Amino acid sequence: MYACVECGKEIKKIEHKFVRCPYCGSRRLAKIRPPVAREVSTD
Ligand SMILES: [Zn+2]
Repeated sequence: MYACVECGKEIKKIEHKFVRCPYCGSRRLAKIRPPVAREVSTD
């Protein structure tokens, strides 16, 4: 999963290397990890 560094939107659909933010059109995307909550214990 990727996230746009310009608008902060999450982008799930990636077409190979030609990635672009569908919201603002920016190519600056940051690779983020999927929210796999395993060792999260806030209590
Ligand atoms: Zn964007």
